[in-house]
Amino acid sequence: MDIYVRRGDSFWYYSNLFNIPLQLIIDSNRDLDPNALTVGRTVKIPGYAAVDYRIRAGDTLWQIARSRNIQVDALLLANRNINPNGLYIGQMIKVPTRITWRIVQGKKNYDYGSLMSDLRRLENVYPFMQVPSIGNSVLGKRIPEALIGSGNKKVHYNGSFHANEWITTPVLMTFLNDYLLALTNQSSIRGLSMLNLYKLTTLSIVPMVNPDGVDLVLNGPPEEEPWNERVVEWNRGSMDFSGWKANIRGVDLNDQFPAEWEKEKARNPSQPGPRDYGGEKPLSEPEAIAMAELTRRRDFSRVLAFHTQGEVIYWGFENLEPPESEAMVNEFGRVSGYQPVKTIESYAGYKDWFIQDWRRPGFTVELGFGINPLPLSQFDEIYEEALGIFLAGLYL
Ligand SMILES: [Zn+2]
Repeated sequence: MDIYVRRGDSFWYYSNLFNIPLQLIIDSNRDLDPNALTVGRTVKIPGYAAVDYRIRAGDTLWQIARSRNIQVDALLLANRNINPNGLYIGQMIKVPTRITWRIVQGKKNYDYGSLMSDLRRLENVYPFMQVPSIGNSVLGKRIPEALIGSGNKKVHYNGSFHANEWITTPVLMTFLNDYLLALTNQSSIRGLSMLNLYKLTTLSIVPMVNPDGVDLVLNGPPEEEPWNERVVEWNRGSMDFSGWKANIRGVDLNDQFPAEWEKEKARNPSQPGPRDYGGEKPLSEPEAIAMAELTRRRDFSRVLAFHTQGEVIYWGFENLEPPESEAMVNEFGRVSGYQPVKTIESYAGYKDWFIQDWRRPGFTVELGFGINPLPLSQFDEIYEEALGIFLAGLYL
C-alpha cells in the first residue's frame, strides 16, 4: 500500500502506526533515506492493501477505524485530501487492510503464467522482497529469482530443473508466501520467529529453472518453430509430455554442469530427448548458464535443489562435501521423514557442481513418492514435509 510522507512522519512512526516491523518498511523503500524523508514522497507499507469503501449515513473515520482495528491516522495517511469533518454519503475512501491470507493458490496446474502473476502480486504486497531476473529461457521467458532477508547467511532453493517435476514450483511459492505472511503479521511458523530468520539470512529462490519445459508438460508444444515440431518428434510422436524432464531443446538441465560431465554423458542418450541428454558440452543451455552465473555471483552458503520423487535427500559428491553436510542432512531427514542418501551413480547435477567447486553443503531433495508428475492430491502432504526442510535450511 502506498502512502505519502507528511511533515514530521518517520519510518519508526509508520512501523508503530501499522504494526509492521521497522526493518520491513526500510527494506520496502530502498530508494528512500530513512533519516531524510521528503514531504510528499511515496512510501510503501508492506503487508497492507488499500481497499475501497463507500461512506454510508452516520459513518465517521473514528468508527470506521475502530471497526477495522486500525488507527484513525492510518486512514488519514491512506486518504491524502480527505476532510474528516466533511464526509459525505457515497464518498469513496481507501481503507488500509492488513493482508492475513495466502495469495498463492498452489494446488493447480502451476505453469509459467501462474508463477509470474503470483510473483507480481507478492511483490506488490511485500515490496521488501526483490524479484530480479537471472536470465532468459530458450524461448525468451524471463527466469525470476525471489530474494528475501537482510542477513549474511546466503541460502538458495530452486525448483523445476526438471519439467515434469513442476509441483516443486508451487510448493516453493507456497513457502515463500507463508514466510512473507508470517513476517508482516509477526507470527511464527512451527514455533520459529520468521523475523529472526529474516535478519540472519538472505534467501534466494528460483522457483522455476525450466519454464519452457514446465509449460510443455502442462500446456503442450509451443507455437514457435522449429520447437513445435521437434519436441513431438523427440517425444516419439506422442502429444503426452508427462515424461518430459528436459528443456525445450531436449537437454536435461540437471546433466549440464561441469562436475564429471563426461562420465554422465557416457551413460546417457547422445541425442536430444525427453530426459537425460546432457547437451553437446557443459553449460550449453541458457537456463543452466543462468543458474551457474547466479551461483557465482551470490556466493551461497548452501544450496537445496528440489526435485520429485522418492522422499530421499542426496547430500554427497565424490567425497568433496564438507563435514557439516552430514549433520545438516540428518536434521533435514528428521524434520521431513525423508531418507538421507550420500551418493548414487550420478554426475553433472547442479548440487554436484556446487559441492565440487565451493566445498559447501549442497543437496538434492526428492519430494513426494510416486510417478512423475506427482498428482496435486499429494500437495498438502508434500508441503508439510518440505516445510521442515525449508525452515531448517534457514535456521541451521
Ligand atoms: Zn529431477
